[in-house]
Amino acid sequence: MKGKLLIIGFGPGSFEHITERAREAIQESDMIIGYKTYVELIEGLLTGQEIISTGMTEEVSRAQEAVKQAERGKKVAVISSGDAGVYGMAGLVYEVLIEKGWRKETGVEVEVIPGISAINSCASLLGAPVMHDACTISLSDHLTPWSLIEKRIEAAAQADFVIAFYNPKSGRRTRQIAEAQRILLQYRSPDTPVGLVKSAYRDRQSVVMTNLKEMLEHEIGMLTTVVIGNSSTFFYDDLMITPRGYQRKYTLNQTEQPLKPHQRLRKEAEPWALEQLEEAVPAKSEAAAAEAKAKASRMETAATATKASSREVAEQALQAILGESVGVSENSFIQQPMQSIFELAVSPGVANKKFTPKQMMTLAEVVGEDGNMEYTRDHQIKLQVPTANPDEVIEKLRAAQFLLSPIGDVLTLKACDFCDGEKKDAIPHAEELQERLGGIELPKELKIGFNGCGMACYGAVQEDIGIVYRKGAFDLFLGAKTVGRSAHSGQIVAEGIAPDQIVSVVEEIVQEYKEKGYPNERFYKFFKRAKRVRGFEYQDITPKLKIEEAACGD
Ligand code: SF4
Repeated sequence: MKGKLLIIGFGPGSFEHITERAREAIQESDMIIGYKTYVELIEGLLTGQEIISTGMTEEVSRAQEAVKQAERGKKVAVISSGDAGVYGMAGLVYEVLIEKGWRKETGVEVEVIPGISAINSCASLLGAPVMHDACTISLSDHLTPWSLIEKRIEAAAQADFVIAFYNPKSGRRTRQIAEAQRILLQYRSPDTPVGLVKSAYRDRQSVVMTNLKEMLEHEIGMLTTVVIGNSSTFFYDDLMITPRGYQRKYTLNQTEQPLKPHQRLRKEAEPWALEQLEEAVPAKSEAAAAEAKAKASRMETAATATKASSREVAEQALQAILGESVGVSENSFIQQPMQSIFELAVSPGVANKKFTPKQMMTLAEVVGEDGNMEYTRDHQIKLQVPTANPDEVIEKLRAAQFLLSPIGDVLTLKACDFCDGEKKDAIPHAEELQERLGGIELPKELKIGFNGCGMACYGAVQEDIGIVYRKGAFDLFLGAKTVGRSAHSGQIVAEGIAPDQIVSVVEEIVQEYKEKGYPNERFYKFFKRAKRVRGFEYQDITPKLKIEEAACGD
């Protein structure tokens, strides 16, 4: 009768982090084979099984014994902490079996039971540092040549991986972690976040947040896992977090996203994607490409022979393919600033509606081939600019005399052109409103219509707040419903507000909405719910006939 090998990863060591299948497997086995400390950790789950526990460096004899016992017909549990397939016993047991000519169909049955590896358990205690591409590197050179470990560290450092170092240090191996730090500092900032987790989810657990420069000033030992952040990783409130990249397309502090679902996978929304990059670089002829490839291969061989660093190999290969010097700097592999889509709206001014040719040229330069421009009904042009440097974009637009406004749930002032500036009495008040309230964040986007005479030909009364200058004073309209089949004008709540009061009155209304409005609640709904805003009473003027709202496209 054939036995069975159950190769079990029991996770970090706490009972609640052992999987159900691992518990069952331990309990259904006849014999437990493991490193002494690991056997002690699962003692509470044992139900009288035979135990074979040995010390460190006895892994091979444990694997051989397990195979022998299984071949005798026993169900044998070989236990590892973490995951049995990540620096655990799974690979070694298979190697011992293969040496004996084992075949899957005819040999003893093998089941590998996964567990939580240290990279995962430690990451959960640090926050979310492994949210992007990551690798594990064991610094133990007992079985792996240090020259190979060194290459792996350098490659991972260049490629901006989050790195989890396993086995960073022991009584005798003390230099490896210092060497690893030295290599990393060639490619990463000294401020790169680093998390040191010792004995995750065990009695003597400790978590230390530090950085690449200072990490060796803290205790690092056999039971420590060292998690090195990538170039985007940051600390926040004692948490170590690596962004996944959502900020490239999404605005995380707004519920309404700049890119609608159907726009998110469009080419122009992903200027960094492979296809976009290929389109940007004119294709070489096949022969030239083949020659470049061959040259790159020759260079890599030569570089390997002269023990060049992986960075140098990559740099030379890139030069060979592009056929020119690319000037790759020491840190350029990982220190390129992250590009994202920067959104804002521009207009020539509060009253001015005329763009100059120079302004249009500035827009074309700033937005470039990969950005977008969209004229909106708010008398603005909305820009989507792929950039790693929004400040530079702002500077250029300001230099071209644009009025800049943020996008999203903010206040937008829509003024008329005051008859091309001829009816100018109210313009200073519109400008003051823009200066005091323009762009402030609110529960939902809010538009103030501001018209310079009773004609109100720019439709001020159709906006959330309407202000109309008439006979030297202002009329105030509140609560228009600007969209939908039941759209209606705002209700007039005051006539003849003195010019020196209009800004403060509106400011108080906006402030009340900001403080008391529910998230996503439009102003007309807020006014209807609150019944009174800044002392102005709501009057129910909606038609008694029930009008069904229709969704877009219906
Ligand atoms: S609302 Fe009056 S001031 Fe403004 S553009 Fe129209 S007519 Fe001119």
